Amino acid sequence: MKRYEHFIDGKAVAPQSGSYFPTNEPYSGEAWAEIARGTPEDVDLAMASAETAFRAREWRDITATKRGEILRRFADLIVENADALGKIEQRDNGKLIAEVSGQVRNVAQWFYYYAGLADKTSGQVIPINKPGTFNYIKYEPLGVIVAITPWNSPLALTAWKLAPALAAGNTVVVKPSEFTSASLIELARIAIEAGLPKGVFNVVTGFGHEIGDALVRHPLARKIAFTGGEVGGRAVNVAAAEELKPVTLELGGKSPNVILADADIDQAVKGVVSGIFGASGQTCMAGSRLLLHRSIHDDVIARLIEILKGAKIGDPALMDTQIGPIATPSQLEKILSYIDIAKSEGATCAYGGYRLEGPEYGAGQFVAPTIFTDVRNDMRIAQEEVFGPVLSVMSFEDDEEALRIANDTRFGLAAAVWTQNLERSMYFADRLEAGTVWVNNYRSTSFTTTFGGYKDSGIGREGGPDAMREFQHEKSVWITPRPGRDNPFVLG
Ligand code: NAD
Repeated sequence: MKRYEHFIDGKAVAPQSGSYFPTNEPYSGEAWAEIARGTPEDVDLAMASAETAFRAREWRDITATKRGEILRRFADLIVENADALGKIEQRDNGKLIAEVSGQVRNVAQWFYYYAGLADKTSGQVIPINKPGTFNYIKYEPLGVIVAITPWNSPLALTAWKLAPALAAGNTVVVKPSEFTSASLIELARIAIEAGLPKGVFNVVTGFGHEIGDALVRHPLARKIAFTGGEVGGRAVNVAAAEELKPVTLELGGKSPNVILADADIDQAVKGVVSGIFGASGQTCMAGSRLLLHRSIHDDVIARLIEILKGAKIGDPALMDTQIGPIATPSQLEKILSYIDIAKSEGATCAYGGYRLEGPEYGAGQFVAPTIFTDVRNDMRIAQEEVFGPVLSVMSFEDDEEALRIANDTRFGLAAAVWTQNLERSMYFADRLEAGTVWVNNYRSTSFTTTFGGYKDSGIGREGGPDAMREFQHEKSVWITPRPGRDNPFVLG
């Protein structure tokens, strides 16, 4: 079986404990590789390597233009290795190969974008109100960045942090999810091939409850960039606060997908399907609450069921599969328990609502795409993140009721509205409480714009032209070319 070590200081490093854990293929249920089980001692080693690389100043001082060149080469190599990287991710989390291969190529785009921005972000000269004094603002890297990432899109969600952090001249220690570590180790190896100095990008693998705290509280960590669930996110936030470390947190959601009566229903129904059944609903931005105008409710539900009946569910390695397995056994249990909760709360199961079994479902880690109607927004199925292919449907009478239900959640990651009326779309875009609002589309993301949450969905933003600022200090420099202070006891 293939074995993956930590990647520290430009090379594979065996865990100091000598222990490894298996990583499983969700479709077959079988282990396909083993991963180094990190300890706080391994964390120390990775952090020391990143700190030494930062202090050596090679990466931050080679000029931003040169950093951009190396990151572009890194992106070229990601494209060259995209099929192999995609295959690893598909084996690890069971995502469709059809989706993953595009997603890995998109990872390269993040590096091209921030490679380009590296030497195009400048400081400022300030028109300071002190005669004879020159003041400017410059931006400097923070130092060692700790990136902690989840299993649902391992390379992509790491790239959202890694690309701007590296472009800004930082060094990074990544801890990928214990379920999906292998692709990150391969990525770090490719980075060295591209010319990144050793120690600039390290990967330490292991369990959140065993090494997460050691990473977040590490004295050399200058910022924590975390993507994951609410429980982990809160723990990271508390630990970081106690150590006075800044964070960005990209957490969960319960995003409303609102279809108004004047929408293009064909397109809206496709948006609902990709929003909640794409990636088997295992995305932070899943459109898990469908809000339908009363007049179109039955029509939309009938169309959704028609599409789901024809969906090809099975082996994610096949290009024509449309719905794949659930990534982990514990996630499967969690989804099934929410289905039970919804039934006991009185929601009507209009489609699905059970585990799929049969030879086409491999080891059986599958849930039928599920639709609950007659959901009330105060039910748990409407308020808590399921992270699976389970849709909660509610109806509304008018725009104000739709907005009230849409915003009545403690999350605020994303929201969508479907309408052919420009004025109404802008009204909704203004009033939906979410970091991303889609009008007549769903699940669109891009390195060129920002992503992040309102309310309990997170703190800070990733992506877009300002993302490097999340990984930079702002320094104000005062220069007095010809000092001439008469009275040093009085503030000048
Ligand atoms: P998770 O919180 O269980 O794990 C995420 C990472 O945090 C893993 O690497 C894990 O080992 C680590 N971790 C866990 N506890 C920790 C602790 N106390 N200290 C430090 N690290 C710790 O999340 P998951 O199950 O891997 O991912 C699913 C969740 O991620 C969902 O809630 C989803 O909504 C969220 N998510 C958010 C976004 C976003 O951009 N907002 C994107 C994808 C996923």
